[in-house]
Amino acid sequence: MTKRSTGIIIAIDGPSGAGKSTVARLLAERLGYVQIDTGAMYRAAALLIAQAGIDPSDTETLQAFCQGIDIALEYADGRQTVIANGNDVTSQIRTPEMSLLTSRTSTLKPVRDALLKSQRQMGVDGGVVLEGRDIGTVVFPDAELKFYLSASAEERGRRRCEELSAKGEQVTLAETIADVVKRDQQDSERDIAPLRKAEDAIAIDSSAKTVEEVLDIMEQLYKEKINSTGMAI
Ligand code: C5P
Repeated sequence: MTKRSTGIIIAIDGPSGAGKSTVARLLAERLGYVQIDTGAMYRAAALLIAQAGIDPSDTETLQAFCQGIDIALEYADGRQTVIANGNDVTSQIRTPEMSLLTSRTSTLKPVRDALLKSQRQMGVDGGVVLEGRDIGTVVFPDAELKFYLSASAEERGRRRCEELSAKGEQVTLAETIADVVKRDQQDSERDIAPLRKAEDAIAIDSSAKTVEEVLDIMEQLYKEKINSTGMAI
């Protein structure tokens, strides 16, 4: 792969609730990199498709619609804003219903093709931390540093439940664990770009680790990678 002057591509994949977003945001901050939350892009696309009332089985209409989708991710003061076709959809895309809907919409080829293209455009110059399900396997199989972040379903459900409760959503732990397991299944069993660990990804189980501990491991491996490639940081 050609060396870029702005930094490397870091891929963080893994199942829902493993802590990818938090870790990707803080790692990007530590390194002065740009975070690209591809899950937010799939969520925004699912919302736009639902709002437009498109029948997911109408591939031609869906394809034409997806080609016109414009999703931008903005970051300021540690907060992410998601703009979909000019509208701020940041909080709308974070409900449990949207999580499950997104997991279904993201099985569709026209959706994946459109987002794959924009994710590659966004990341190609390097200096990025991309998080998702298929970054190390499909979007950037040549990424210089790949992580597969996981945790037990119980721990992931517990974290997601806390997050949603803090936002005032009425959810139970049992429901949240069931949603996480259902999404894992949908995301891992789909035909196109299923969730799986890239062979060369470094697996990190975050079940019994703090965010800081995960970040320290990643930063150390980043430094080793940079030193081994002779890039200046
Ligand atoms: O990461 P997050 O939970 O926000 O992702 C929402 C959904 O988007 C996932 O459950 C998955 O179905 C889909 N997704 C995907 N590929 C990605 C990122 C997310 O299919 N790279």
